[in-house]
Amino acid sequence: NADVAMYIAKGQGKGCARLFEPAMHTALLERLELEAQLEVAVERAQLDLQYQPIVSLATGRVSGFEALVRWNHPERGELPPEAFMPIAEETGLVVAIDRWVLLKACCQGRAWQRAYPADEPLIVGVNLSARQLEEDDAVELVELALEVSGLPPEHLVIEITERFLLRNESLGIKTLEALRALGVRLAIDDFGTGYSSLAYLRHLPIDVLKIDRSFIDGLGRSEEDTALVQAILRLARSLNLETIAEGVERPDQRAALADLQCTLAQGWHFSRPLRSAEMEDLLRTRTAALPQFGLTV
Ligand code: C2E
Ligand code: CA
Ligand code: CA
Repeated sequence: NADVAMYIAKGQGKGCARLFEPAMHTALLERLELEAQLEVAVERAQLDLQYQPIVSLATGRVSGFEALVRWNHPERGELPPEAFMPIAEETGLVVAIDRWVLLKACCQGRAWQRAYPADEPLIVGVNLSARQLEEDDAVELVELALEVSGLPPEHLVIEITERFLLRNESLGIKTLEALRALGVRLAIDDFGTGYSSLAYLRHLPIDVLKIDRSFIDGLGRSEEDTALVQAILRLARSLNLETIAEGVERPDQRAALADLQCTLAQGWHFSRPLRSAEMEDLLRTRTAALPQFGLTV
């Protein structure tokens, strides 16, 4: 029991003391069980992808999607990433997961581009963890995914977090530059939650800022949040970066973003993450705007 308490204390950072409680035991067992099962899940194809549309604020059209991983757990049903990605990060399984997600998302995206051609081809957004990007063969992996899928590189947006750059700045920038040399586009995910200064952005080889949901939440309601979003959008424009607002849930947020000339948005207001068949239904009518825009086909 002391060991369990120590394990939990260690997990909470340095210089931390915890007294054993019976619930700790259950939590730890559960975690160890999930850890073992996750390894099997990766091998046995229990992972699945959902696709959340990214919408053009000017036209209401689906301009692309973000691929989001799910685990179809044999006993617990569908698990969201926060239930298993932290374990995957710690054990290193995230590398295998991200590899699978990248290949699958590129192939799916290319298949949809072919099946539902449009003037502006569908953009594929994929999250890559810091752990994956630190692998020696991260760049080759992306190259392979492009080759296998046939997806044109400029249609792939790789989402990275500021955390990755903070972990190892010079290696991080080198990797990003190598990725960009392939022709893919890079996005900073959850922008605003990290610590990088705005001036620092200028030195980064990036193309897109994804404005974190926490700022979008207060948009139009909190003066501070509104001012922050406005400042981020202005900065992005002056640096020639594209912007995607994350977590848009209400029509007033959409209106405010359109006023502020944000180009793209994503969130429940437009659509939750969709299964592939649902996404396909949407793509079939992609030339039409989403119903929330009140436009007709
Ligand atoms: P993220 O990259 O910030 O992804 C957006 C998350 O916000 C998704 O949660 C999405 O379902 C959720 N979301 C979208 N619209 C709304 C909204 O209007 N309101 C609210 N409250 N939430 C919204 P999800 O799918 O649970 O993913 C959580 C996180 O897990 C992701 O955050 C990402 O960091 C990570 N993740 C997901 N898939 C992958 C993956 O394939 N690889 C890696 N490395 N990480 C992944
Ligand atoms: Ca993301
Ligand atoms: Ca995000």
